[in-house]
Amino acid sequence: MQELVAKFEHVYIDQTAVGSSLARRLRELFPDDRVSVVEAPPLAAGELSAREFSRSKRLLYVTPFKGKFFKRCPGSRPGLSCCNYFVLNWGLQCDMNCSYCYLQSFINTPMLTIYSNLDDALNELREIGEAGLKAQALRVGTGETVDSLSLDPLTLYSQTLIEFFRDYPAWTLEFKTKSNKVDQFLNSPHAGNVVVSWSVNPQHIVEREEHGTASLSERLEAAHKCVGHGYRLAFHIDPMIWHPEWRENYGALVDEIAARFTPEQLPYMSVGALRFQPEQRAMMRERFGLNSYVTQAETFSGRDGKLRYDAAVRQEMFQFVLQRFHAHNPAWRLFMCMESPETWLKVAGTSPFKQPHMHDLFDPKVVRAAEAT
Ligand code: SF4
Repeated sequence: MQELVAKFEHVYIDQTAVGSSLARRLRELFPDDRVSVVEAPPLAAGELSAREFSRSKRLLYVTPFKGKFFKRCPGSRPGLSCCNYFVLNWGLQCDMNCSYCYLQSFINTPMLTIYSNLDDALNELREIGEAGLKAQALRVGTGETVDSLSLDPLTLYSQTLIEFFRDYPAWTLEFKTKSNKVDQFLNSPHAGNVVVSWSVNPQHIVEREEHGTASLSERLEAAHKCVGHGYRLAFHIDPMIWHPEWRENYGALVDEIAARFTPEQLPYMSVGALRFQPEQRAMMRERFGLNSYVTQAETFSGRDGKLRYDAAVRQEMFQFVLQRFHAHNPAWRLFMCMESPETWLKVAGTSPFKQPHMHDLFDPKVVRAAEAT
């Protein structure tokens, strides 16, 4: 906890959030001279310089979220295959620092913001349940604009969410993280419907590109703890980053996963390759310079406007990982997130919609529509 508290230079609490349990907890954890109650954001929003973006990770701002919490996963666009689920963003910005982070493409608030009104999000979920979806297989993910767990010892939001989802056993709650912060919820009673997922990369890439994150072995160790407490697991080998020794390093990563976990423990794993918005390139270069494979990558614009490796490179990397897993056990299953149907066909020889075991990852209406064409 001390390490987390030390990360932040100052905590600003909007006066409308003062009564929240989050504000009360932060006031207990942080020394008085590092907490202020404010009537308005102390720093104005606007385009951030690279320096301001880096500093925004060290200033905490607690305020209620005034809009709708729920929106659809941004991957569900025409021409892209992606797991179709609901995203609950309870904050904006991340305390860790990956060179490729897509937050660099759009964050314009100079502080790491955590929303104090998680209760309102739960009320929206209740309404969704009352609208007839309680018995349906809804998936809710929390790691899009903030890491699901890296700040969880401060917020304890995982405990509230796990408790809430006990009443919705048909629904799935997914945490997605590059941290190893799981101890705070391990003993929470749960309905077996919580997936804790990790983005994983070889340790060489963690050190070079994923600054401030847990090491690979810390992530795998945390995953082991979760299995031991009945939580479901998922790994995302994403983003795969090309570098001269990529075969050795990704091969070793697959071997380690296959040695420590079983296909039954990891029913769904995704792979994805480096992709980022063109507008974040300048900030990435300024923040991470030449000492990064990401800033030096040769990329091409895809149909969604993002920059990616050449399709042949991506396919070679995905095929390599898939074959390496299957050399251990043909029961390992992987899906390719944010990839075109062409890539699926070349790598897996099929469309995601044609694989029966993929159906529960996709909106049934989308699956039916795809199968009808
Ligand atoms: S952990 Fe995720 S959100 Fe945080 S810096 Fe890395 S990519 Fe961005």
